[in-house]
Amino acid sequence: MRRRVSKQELVERLEAVERRLDRLEASPLAGQETIPVIPTVHDHHYEGPGPCSADVFGQECGAHQALHANPD
Ligand SMILES: [Zn+2]
Repeated sequence: MRRRVSKQELVERLEAVERRLDRLEASPLAGQETIPVIPTVHDHHYEGPGPCSADVFGQECGAHQALHANPD
């Protein structure tokens, strides 16, 4: 059984759905959490000698060996 819906009502309902979708995209999903993407000396092994030369996400680490979690 179909109910007659006016074009105006269709447009209004469509716009309401679009507004709800816009809000949904902005809100985080359940269980979603932010993870740090900034590289740290704990993310890799020290590559010496001297300042660490490991490539960390496209950047040279440059930190001292002792600062690393797994100094060689
Ligand atoms: Zn390093």
